[in-house]
Amino acid sequence: MKDINRLHTQALEMIKPIVAEIENKTFYQTAKVLEAFRSAQVCQHHLNGTNGYGYGDIGREALEHVFATLFGAEAALVRPQFVSGTHAIATALFAILRPGDTILFATGKPYDTLEKVIGFKNEPGSLRDWGINYRQIDLSSDDKIDIFTLQKLLEEDKSIRVVAFQRSRGYAWRKSLLQPDLTEAFALTKKIRPDVVIFVDNCYGELVEGFEPTQYGADLVAGSLIKNLGGGLAPTGGYIAGNKDLVNLAAERLTVPGTEGELGATGDFLRSTFHGLYLAPRMVAEALIGAIYAAALFSLAGFEVSPTIEEPRSDIIQAIKLNSAENMKAFCRGIQRFSPIDSHLTPEPWVMPGYDVPVIMAGGTFIAGSTAELSADGPLVPPYIIYFQGGLNRHHIFLAVQNALAEIIARN
Ligand SMILES: *Cc1c(COP(=O)(O)O)cnc(C)c1O
Repeated sequence: MKDINRLHTQALEMIKPIVAEIENKTFYQTAKVLEAFRSAQVCQHHLNGTNGYGYGDIGREALEHVFATLFGAEAALVRPQFVSGTHAIATALFAILRPGDTILFATGKPYDTLEKVIGFKNEPGSLRDWGINYRQIDLSSDDKIDIFTLQKLLEEDKSIRVVAFQRSRGYAWRKSLLQPDLTEAFALTKKIRPDVVIFVDNCYGELVEGFEPTQYGADLVAGSLIKNLGGGLAPTGGYIAGNKDLVNLAAERLTVPGTEGELGATGDFLRSTFHGLYLAPRMVAEALIGAIYAAALFSLAGFEVSPTIEEPRSDIIQAIKLNSAENMKAFCRGIQRFSPIDSHLTPEPWVMPGYDVPVIMAGGTFIAGSTAELSADGPLVPPYIIYFQGGLNRHHIFLAVQNALAEIIARN
């Protein structure tokens, strides 16, 4: 433990300048969120939800106004009826694409849960099952968007209707895609095919960089409310933001044609979702500081980390190469023991439906499955990488990460 105290002091010293940068950014993000609240004139009675059909839900309208403003977008759809981020993304894609169209993913293989939405194995009900084609451009060897291939495909394949980008590095050992990379690819796409829809899977990226993709050229973004923008308080749900006609299509795909998104009761969703969004810049900063601390502590202890502490980040994920299945289990035990909920449980690897390999997960959260709160997971396969994200309080993250390292050291 003495060793860990020494590493802790060193790690805090190492991350000081980066923490200062994050605080500067958070100041700016907080101003942006307050401005969005002000522009919608949010008041007490917007915090109470509706039941039944949810007609005339002024709180829902105010919340969607706040999101649209924050995203620099014409419109937003922010609903508890989205069961997950994947659902919000799928709703957007099914809303825009028609049989014979092609969706082109320009940032490599999309997030795992989207494989079944796209229909990699022609799953019933998938985009592919509806006659929508899928193409993919892998990232180049230096983890950049391959814009030469993007240009070529856009010129050749007139069936391309959506070009999709994933902002977060996701659960992969690669460099983050940053705002300048995306800006360039968006501009190129619009230059060649102004009619194409630029869609961004925005999960884990919200409020990390200075701007949201809709502010630098994306037509539509979607994400989860139990990640960054929920601030740890939103109880469920997802969002879509972007051009008004596209958001309307998505609203009518989520609900029914002819209703223009005017239905959908909010129950007790509004107060905590407004509150969570208000806190989100602070919570994202805590998660980032925790991730950078973990990168510092584990690299001091001799492990390879990605991103490194200096590398620019566009999401809140930290990957650590732990080199053995036993280390992964020890890491997860350490995180779990320092969770506010379920601290007495021991994470065990299991083969989840839809996966081929055992996965281990740690997380004891107030909102079930929330990754705005501290959580860690990874597949138990070489090189044994644990992905670690979230946390609403840096001191909790520091303690949990220290304990994860202590579990690993005790084992060796
Ligand atoms: C989390 C995530 C999703 C899916 O969100 P769920 O809420 O888990 O369905 C999609 N894409 C990326 C990049 C994500 O990180």
